[in-house]
Amino acid sequence: MPIFHQYNDKSGWFVRTSIQNAIITFQLTAAGAKRLLEAGIKDGARFRRAVLFNLYRSGDAYTHGTGPGVIEPLKKGQLEIDFSNDPEPETIFPRCSSCGSLADLHLVEIKQESKHYAALYCPLCRGKSIRLIDTSIPLQFVTKGAFERIVILKGITELDKHASDYKTFLDKAFQEKWDNLLIRKLTSKGKNQVSLFESEGRQKKLL
Ligand SMILES: [Zn+2]
Repeated sequence: MPIFHQYNDKSGWFVRTSIQNAIITFQLTAAGAKRLLEAGIKDGARFRRAVLFNLYRSGDAYTHGTGPGVIEPLKKGQLEIDFSNDPEPETIFPRCSSCGSLADLHLVEIKQESKHYAALYCPLCRGKSIRLIDTSIPLQFVTKGAFERIVILKGITELDKHASDYKTFLDKAFQEKWDNLLIRKLTSKGKNQVSLFESEGRQKKLL
């Protein structure tokens, strides 16, 4: 599970997590830190990967430059930061299709003579493949709807594994959002029914 940390000079907050045996530091925007603080998460506390993924999707959690920046030295014992009981896998975080980096990913449309597909590329790999790339969009702007429209609009025929995994997570997050909304709706409906029942009961007693 990711851990929430405050910088030693108290200038802001960051999150550290382990992904495939590497310690990855996510920087947080002020809004991102505020969301965690408001949710009651304190300095040094662990929280679910799904929450960090949500911050990542909205651009409130990000990795810098060409790789995860080391911004605070690790304290003793910090390597054992991920528990295995997190329901979301480490692979929830997208990586560059070509080199595996997590930094500043774009959804890219790659046009080759034999193939026309979507992939996720880091700045380094975008630079190397610039002649093949027709569309390049920062991942934070790629919502489920935008993703689907880009694929149709550009006539993309394939998603590589990294792009396809990211699409699956977007679909899942969307589905969960709807499920939660539905549950909330049903619960509030249920409450109304209960109160209706109670008042009916009282009326009966009065009669
Ligand atoms: Zn790359």
